[in-house]
Amino acid sequence: MNISSIIEKANALSGKITELRRKFHANPELPWQEKETSLFVEEYLRNLGLENIKRGFGGTECGVMADLKGAKSGRCVALRGDIDALPLEEENDVPYRSKKSGVMHACGHDAHTAVLLAVAEILSLMKEELCGTVRFLFQPAEEAGMHSGAPKMIEEGALDGVDAIGGLHVWALLESGKLGYRTGPIMASADIWDLKIQGKGGHGAMPHNAVDPTVTAATVISTLQTVVSREIDPLETVVLSVGKLEAGTAVNIIPDTARVAGNVRTTNREIRGRMEGIMKRVADGICAAMRCTAELTYTPIYPVTVNDPVVTGFMRSVAVDVFGAENVKELPVAMGSEDYSYYGEKVPAAYVFLGIADETKGSGNQHHNPKFNVDDEALPKGAALLAGFAARFTARESA
Ligand SMILES: [Zn+2]
Ligand SMILES: [Zn+2]
Repeated sequence: MNISSIIEKANALSGKITELRRKFHANPELPWQEKETSLFVEEYLRNLGLENIKRGFGGTECGVMADLKGAKSGRCVALRGDIDALPLEEENDVPYRSKKSGVMHACGHDAHTAVLLAVAEILSLMKEELCGTVRFLFQPAEEAGMHSGAPKMIEEGALDGVDAIGGLHVWALLESGKLGYRTGPIMASADIWDLKIQGKGGHGAMPHNAVDPTVTAATVISTLQTVVSREIDPLETVVLSVGKLEAGTAVNIIPDTARVAGNVRTTNREIRGRMEGIMKRVADGICAAMRCTAELTYTPIYPVTVNDPVVTGFMRSVAVDVFGAENVKELPVAMGSEDYSYYGEKVPAAYVFLGIADETKGSGNQHHNPKFNVDDEALPKGAALLAGFAARFTARESA
C-alpha cells in the first residue's frame, strides 16, 4: 500500500474534513443522545458503499458500526472514533460555534468523527488494493463514565472477528503537525469509591456516650495516605485522592455517620485490581479499632489504556511516513482516562495523540475548557495515519 497516495487523498479531502468537523461542532450532542450525528454518519457510510452497517447501541439510536471490505483477503482491523459532546457552554466566538446552549464539543470528538469519515472515504477509494476488512466504530458516550459507550459496542459485536484496533485523540498539549505515541500504558484507569462510616450519634459534650465517626474518618483518611506511599512499589504510578468529606449538622452534635469519597487512578492493571481490597482492609481495620463500622463501595469506571507493542510499533512506523520522524514523539503517560481502554482489554490496541495546538489559530486551550478548539489543518494527517495504519495492518501476515 502506497502511503503517498493515501496522504494525497487525505490532503485532497482537507476542505471536507474542516467542513464536517465544524458541522459537528455547531451541532453537538450529549452522551447517548447523538442521534443526528449517528444518522448523518450512517448515511455518509452508506453512500461510500460500506457494508454490515448497524446503527444504535445500548438500546439507543446512537453509534454506528460498519465494515469496508477490501478486494483482497487479509486481516480485520477496527478504527474507533468517539462522537459525543460535553455539558458546557461554549465561549469561542467562531462562525461554527455550538448552536445548543450548554452543550459543546470541548474534547475534540467532533474532529474524531470528521477524521474517521475521511478515513472511510480514503479507503473506499482504494478498495481494489485493500486487503481484509476495516471496521469503523463511531462510538457514542465516551464521556459517560460508568455508562460509557465502548462496553456497549463491544457487547453488541464491535470486536467480533477483529485482530487489532487503532484510534487517535486530538491533543491540545501537543503542537499541530506532531504525533504522540507510547507503548504500554498511555492513559490511567479511573475508579471511584465511597466509604460510609457508621458510629453512634450523641451530644458534643458527652463523647464517651457516643461513637464518633468524624475522628474515625480523619484517621481513615490519614491512613489511606500510606497505601500509595508505603504499600505500592515507588516505581509504579498510583493516585488515591479524597474528594468528598461529609459529616454532621451542628457544632454540638456528634453525628451518627460520616462519608468519605474519592478516586483512584493508576497505570498498572494488576495494582488496579488490588486497590479495592487494600482500601477495604484499611477502612475495616481502622473503623473496628475505633468502634465504628465501614461500608466501602468501590466502583470501577475506566480501565488502564494499554498500547500493545506490536500494533503500536506498526502505528508508529506509519506515523513516521506521514508526519516525518522528527514530528513523532514518545509522550509520557497521561493520567486522564479513556473508555478506549475497554477495546484494549479485548484485542491488541494502539491509541495515539494527534497534536492540534497552535496559538495563532486559537487551539491551545486544554480539553473540557469552554474555549477549547481544534486546528483543522492538523486533521488530514490524522486521517492519513489511520488510513495508512488500517491499509498496512490488514495486508500484513499474521503476527
Ligand atoms: Zn473528554
Ligand atoms: Zn475525549
